Amino acid sequence: MIRTNWHTHTSRCGHACGTDEQYVKAAIRGGLKTLGFSDHAAYEEPWPSERMNIEEVPAYIASVRSLQKKYSGKIDIHLGMEVEYYPSQWETLTYYRKEMEYLILGQHQLELGAGSAYGIRDAKRLFQYVDALEGACRHGLCDYIAHPDVVMYSYPAIDGSVREAAQRIAEISVKYDMPLELNCGSGVRYGKQRYQDGERYAYPVRIFFEEFAKRNCPVVIGLDIHDPQLFLTNVYLNRALEVIEGLDCNILEDFDIISAAKKRKQMFY
Ligand SMILES: [Zn+2]
Ligand SMILES: [Zn+2]
Repeated sequence: MIRTNWHTHTSRCGHACGTDEQYVKAAIRGGLKTLGFSDHAAYEEPWPSERMNIEEVPAYIASVRSLQKKYSGKIDIHLGMEVEYYPSQWETLTYYRKEMEYLILGQHQLELGAGSAYGIRDAKRLFQYVDALEGACRHGLCDYIAHPDVVMYSYPAIDGSVREAAQRIAEISVKYDMPLELNCGSGVRYGKQRYQDGERYAYPVRIFFEEFAKRNCPVVIGLDIHDPQLFLTNVYLNRALEVIEGLDCNILEDFDIISAAKKRKQMFY
């Protein structure tokens, strides 16, 4: 099992279960030393099955802060969020950047309310997705990119554009010193899916990590936990590791995302 996980949700997002404290207790039982909460960021428009409402943000902050104190000495808890790069929401994102100890980027849509990353099937929108990742990095919005390959969820086949997208993401990582996540969430939990060119997990996708390994990009393992029980199993971690088996990936263990965030936050003052 890993000792540090920066990618943890809470029931506020509408598709996770358990209390905040159950996540902490399970993480301790699972052997974690550092636990980062990174629930889905709220924006002006509510979306109850995908993210907390904006009115819930203060209670989220208060809850994580209080658990941080209560469990100090037992586990290091940190307050983060999983955000998207939505230029239209810049005021809200700036608030999160200042208020949270760290931010991870999970670009689930191309823009707020449009262009789901789970529905992309063409090269044009594949590259728009990469552009969004780059925008986030250029503005110092995030401290690692969660599931950079989530855009492969519906993409029909591994073609030349996919290789090019993976190369571009690797370049972005190098340019901005941005870790890329090996995600152990839904992509591996739902099992392998059939695509035009064979079976694979929706994500992580090996071709991305081939390019990340070539450029020695920093890689961080993220459990993407939506259920406290998942801290107690290695099944999904092992599935994700199997995808990159034999690749010389630069996996960062116990990555200090808090220090990285402190530097980038300066761009917001
Ligand atoms: Zn989620
Ligand atoms: Zn997530």
